[in-house]
Amino acid sequence: MDSDSGSRCWCLRLPRRQRRTGAVQTNTEVRGPQEKSGEVIVVGGSAAGFFAAARVARGGKRVRVLESKPSLEPASRTLIVTNHFRSQLGALAGESIVNEIRRFELFTDGRSAQITLARPDLIIERARLISALAHEAQQAGATVSFDTRFLGLSSNARGLRVEADSGGRREELHADSVVGADGAASRVARAAGWPAVETVPLVQAIVRLPKDCPPDTTRVWFVPDDTPYFYWLIPESSERAALGIIGENGRDTARCLTRFIEKRQMEPIEWQGARIPVYRRWVPVRRRMGRGDVYLVGDAAAQVKVSTVGGVVTGLRGALGVAESILGNGASRELLALRRELCTHWLLRRTMHHFQQEDYSQLVDLLNAATCDTLKEITRDESTRLLWTVLRRQPRLILLGLGGLLLGRRPRQHAST
Ligand SMILES: Cc1cc2nc3c(=O)[nH]c(=O)nc-3n(C[C@H](O)[C@H](O)[C@H](O)COP(=O)(O)OP(=O)(O)OC[C@H]3O[C@@H](n4cnc5c(N)ncnc54)[C@H](O)[C@@H]3O)c2cc1C
Repeated sequence: MDSDSGSRCWCLRLPRRQRRTGAVQTNTEVRGPQEKSGEVIVVGGSAAGFFAAARVARGGKRVRVLESKPSLEPASRTLIVTNHFRSQLGALAGESIVNEIRRFELFTDGRSAQITLARPDLIIERARLISALAHEAQQAGATVSFDTRFLGLSSNARGLRVEADSGGRREELHADSVVGADGAASRVARAAGWPAVETVPLVQAIVRLPKDCPPDTTRVWFVPDDTPYFYWLIPESSERAALGIIGENGRDTARCLTRFIEKRQMEPIEWQGARIPVYRRWVPVRRRMGRGDVYLVGDAAAQVKVSTVGGVVTGLRGALGVAESILGNGASRELLALRRELCTHWLLRRTMHHFQQEDYSQLVDLLNAATCDTLKEITRDESTRLLWTVLRRQPRLILLGLGGLLLGRRPRQHAST
């Protein structure tokens, strides 16, 4: 059964600025009541969704992106990604890069360590990234429906039946495959029977860049009394920076950040925040439902590096992997590599999650010149290589790590340390 109306309008509503400049092509399409087979519906028009849509459309499938927001006006956020982002996006990467980071400074309890990066990390603006990816998806042939909220999913003789609310009107759509790119609280995942992913709060404030912080340097503070994760200061320009924290409890996390900001006499200009998935184990990205396939990508599949809680590069990798699966009808090498990567980050997180102040002090002390050289050569998106090289060069980190892994106990001091 098809939906109520005889025609459907799939139109990309653009922000006024883009309507004026025509920066993004408008793709309006009117369809009759019958749906063609071989269609892929992507739920969620954000980084992972648009990236997957572009890849699948370029592979020859008909793709529709359903996005619940009324238009292409993604919330702006300052994000840090590794240089891997450039190889993922090619020329498109440049559209969202606002700054480059050449150095990390780690602080804990009066100690500090510095790591110089051989290949700079990139500071990107999320709203620009999503606009660029939306444009790319459209150029590849995907249609985008804003103000269209995915409601539910079931299988039927033709494949998958998708229920959506389109501007207050119920719609029924049909597809062979549905890709859930609808974030940490994925409704697609719930509808297809995946268990909910665990999330943690991430809060950051845009502040004026402190005078003593160079615009090419990211600062990280380990304060285990406040959070098992860390605080960061990421310059987005020579004027402004994002100061943030990941925590475990929403209210406490926001309170800790406010205190941290006050203590350093900074003034928040703007707040950004959301809940981020915590990767605990690989979430199988595909489920068969009757005669159709349902996939998850990005935050919906917890494709987030749980050591640093970065999800952009890994979400794009997940999207690429799912596109490979859809187009190749099977396994994807990208997904196998991503799984290994996410597992290594999970191991690192487990190791550090119960660190106490002494452990962090020891960690910063152990990040000696040899280790720092290693960190600068290899990016965080090659974590397995990074981990083994660091451990080979600084074996005392193994003891520290084992102490963290074994029920959160601190390592005993050995004669050699
Ligand atoms: C403040 C903050 C700072 C961060 N910093 C970093 C960082 O520095 N580096 C990094 O790598 N990562 C960072 N992250 C994490 C990163 O932003 C996410 O991992 C990534 O953006 C997830 O992208 P996504 O496309 O999977 O999901 P999302 O961006 O969450 O997109 C989901 C989309 O689905 C849509 N949607 C939801 N439900 C429906 C529905 N029912 N129907 C239709 N559409 C729906 C939403 O409107 C949204 O557009 C940060 C996150 C936050 C909140």
